[in-house]
Amino acid sequence: MNIEPCEVLVVGGGPGGLAAAVAAARNGADTLLVERYGFLGGMATAGLVNPYMTYWAGEEQIVNGIHQEICDRLTALGAYGKGSRTTFDSETYKFVADRMCEESGVKVMLHSLLSDVAVSDGVISSVEIVGKSGKQSVKAEVFIDGTGDADLAFMAGATCEKGRALDGLTQPMTLSFRVCNVDPSRVPGRAERNELYDKAKADGRLSCPRENVLMFLSTRPDVMHFNQTRITGADGTSTIDLTRAEIEGRRQAWEFLEFLRRDVPGFENAEIQVSGPQIGVRESRRVIGDYIMTEEDVLEARKFPDVIARGSYDVDIHSPTGAGTVIKRLEPGTSYDIPYRCLTPLGIDNLLIAGRPISATHEAHSSVRIMPICIAIGQAAGTAAALSVKERTMPRKLDVPTLQSALREQGANLG
Ligand SMILES: Cc1cc2nc3c(=O)[nH]c(=O)nc-3n(C[C@H](O)[C@H](O)[C@H](O)COP(=O)(O)OP(=O)(O)OC[C@H]3O[C@@H](n4cnc5c(N)ncnc54)[C@H](O)[C@@H]3O)c2cc1C
Repeated sequence: MNIEPCEVLVVGGGPGGLAAAVAAARNGADTLLVERYGFLGGMATAGLVNPYMTYWAGEEQIVNGIHQEICDRLTALGAYGKGSRTTFDSETYKFVADRMCEESGVKVMLHSLLSDVAVSDGVISSVEIVGKSGKQSVKAEVFIDGTGDADLAFMAGATCEKGRALDGLTQPMTLSFRVCNVDPSRVPGRAERNELYDKAKADGRLSCPRENVLMFLSTRPDVMHFNQTRITGADGTSTIDLTRAEIEGRRQAWEFLEFLRRDVPGFENAEIQVSGPQIGVRESRRVIGDYIMTEEDVLEARKFPDVIARGSYDVDIHSPTGAGTVIKRLEPGTSYDIPYRCLTPLGIDNLLIAGRPISATHEAHSSVRIMPICIAIGQAAGTAAALSVKERTMPRKLDVPTLQSALREQGANLG
């Protein structure tokens, strides 16, 4: 069965895909967003990931535009914290995402998993999606991959890489969860929490390979958020590995709850309020595009003439094999540019990448992957797709200064 053709088709409604779809529609393109789950938000909702990592370089807010609009809408609904590492409520995020799509004219198809791509001579003509209605096919002029895993690019035949250069291992997965019924006035500080954690590990009561406790506040005082579990050696594009990771993630979460109740003041009556509907996948495929961002580009805060988004987050690599997290920081107050060429995969002409699988090394990916940056990349991809349709050109050939001025007009801070 065929679905009505559209001009821009976005697959995947996470932070990157959502921003891409909204931007494409606002820039005049007839836009369809397809998403495998029954709600939008990707890792921000399905992965229960929190908080937003920084979108500031010193005093300068470097990610603005659609990202700031999402923050404002969450704030208006009482679902957004304060500061540069800001927590938000993921249920509200789902609602905000629906509203933004509806108001900007994005057509949304939920419960739709990408299952095939028709390509000839490097141009995608249609994609197949599968759901309760069976297989359906949809044609478009420009396609945007917002799947986080580069599923669309991979199925179209674009060259992709996975993991670190050494052995292909990716960052570990994490099942995020929240614990309620906490007495916040009695919760010890970070150093004491980590001491208790080390002792329980030494006693053999905790088997999570993570080196310390990774706890964040939530939007409610009696609820604490944990990015705590760690599952290594799992490939986010393997069904078998994802299954193992989900089950192991839950096992680690319940083991950790026992530790909290027994050892940590304020958690005596704690319960798991919710865990992510899916395991959090930090890293899977990355496309090879017209430019590959490197660790040096990030840490040396390099600038590019074709900047379409900016970042200031650290290189942050959770160990792919066990304990430890490598963090390399930018000079305080500095930021790097993300070039448009990282969004255009080699070999496929009418495809753009929105979100974490842009063309970058394992190390650079560990910085660009955070949600605010993925939203900025998504806004750029959606705007570029709409301009490509309008100007009857392929995204790779788009006039970049025209794209940059459209992005600036719509709130992006390109420096
Ligand atoms: C455990 C963990 C902790 C993290 N911590 C933080 C943090 O503290 N702060 C921060 O800012 N960032 C953090 N991140 C990073 C951030 O959450 C992600 O990198 C970011 O959400 C990526 O956005 P995205 O839009 O590229 O992909 P995703 O968020 O993964 O969204 C992809 C979307 O595509 C859909 N999809 C996938 N495949 C298909 C398909 N075949 N067909 C149809 N739909 C499909 C998915 O359902 C999903 O909605 C963390 C990530 C993880 C996993």
